Amino acid sequence: ASWFGHVEPAAKDPILGVTEAFLADPSPDKVNIGVGAYRDDNGRPVVLECVREAERRIAGSTNMEYLPMGGSVKVIDESLKLAYGEDSEFIKDKRIAAVQALSGTGACRLFADFQKRFLPDTQIYIPTPTWANLHPPKIPDLMYFLSHHNIWRDAHVPQRTFTYYHQESRGLDFSGLMDDIKNAPDSSFFLLHACAHNPTGVDPSEEQWREISHQFKVKKHFPFFDMAYQGFASGDPERDAKAIRIFLEDGHQIGCAQSYAKNMGLYGQRAGCLSILCDDEMQAVAVKSQLQQIARPMYSNPPLHGALIVSTILSDPELKNLWLKEVKGMADRIIGMREALKENLERLGSPLSWEHITNQIGMFCYSGMTPEQVDRLTNEFHIYMTRNGRISMAGVTTGNVAYLANAIHEVTK
Ligand code: PLP
Repeated sequence: ASWFGHVEPAAKDPILGVTEAFLADPSPDKVNIGVGAYRDDNGRPVVLECVREAERRIAGSTNMEYLPMGGSVKVIDESLKLAYGEDSEFIKDKRIAAVQALSGTGACRLFADFQKRFLPDTQIYIPTPTWANLHPPKIPDLMYFLSHHNIWRDAHVPQRTFTYYHQESRGLDFSGLMDDIKNAPDSSFFLLHACAHNPTGVDPSEEQWREISHQFKVKKHFPFFDMAYQGFASGDPERDAKAIRIFLEDGHQIGCAQSYAKNMGLYGQRAGCLSILCDDEMQAVAVKSQLQQIARPMYSNPPLHGALIVSTILSDPELKNLWLKEVKGMADRIIGMREALKENLERLGSPLSWEHITNQIGMFCYSGMTPEQVDRLTNEFHIYMTRNGRISMAGVTTGNVAYLANAIHEVTK
């Protein structure tokens, strides 16, 4: 008898199917707007110039020793400045427990494990929809394809969902969101996308964030921010941290997952940071030591190279400025493509409203197309994307935007 005969193949991640089908399609017209990674106007992956320069500076000049268990102190320091603000009193008072994490996913998972270990009676409220690769699930089990759900599931934290997206307006369901915040039991944990919500591209306005923060105060909820796109939404990392800063001003304790995958293009380097704002320095020391304790038997300590790139860039004013320019360049290209896509659809005489293409921000546009319409895009026009209608704007270029608009117009007529 085989030890492993009972092991069935895991369900395939739908995004991999999209990529495979795209690669196998010989059509010269084919377009991939499924990918969740930035592409330049020729559809090619990008390595930022600040990253290249950091690599040149690092090359041959460092050893390959282990990082400390909590990761690079420099990366942590710089990450906290980005999220909490350069002059944050919380940083000065050493109230933040933080460790370098395996990018955004690793930061979320570490937090989920911490939550399970030290707050075993809490649940996590996750927005509907959330970071995911497939059509919003009809069968509850399918929910577990969604990454945020997967992460907290594997950490054995019970989950609930809260209202976020409004189908008709293709915008925020603010009253539904506020109702769910009010109706959740006091002291609930909520996962919030700090900016550039994936997959919808819909963020609360500043005023709405203030109301959300206020209601969190009333209900004593704990906000955990997943910030995978800082700088990618508006082009300015400071502006994209606004939601977090509002919660900090209001005196919340927060948790925060940061990722350098998108905003530095360091996808495969797995560079990120997990931070938790505590009551005081003593508590922060304790919490940090426990985060390290959770990381130790999983991966011991985080990877070095990405950390060196991040700390080299962020600690050098000249390189940091170059980075800020390059993030803005990526965000601006995407914003430009949103305008071009909308204009093209309007020029074709589409009677539908496409305002949401430019109202939404970040890497994705939640187009509102149905799975059937997406199937037609793929089958008739060689356009590959996930069936939830999510367009990765990073895959849209000056070369394919007119073709894409025409195809969308045809299938939504
Ligand atoms: N959180 C959200 C909302 C995301 O969209 C992503 C990536 O797509 C991540 C976290 C994690 O990415 P990574 O683990 O590569 O940093």
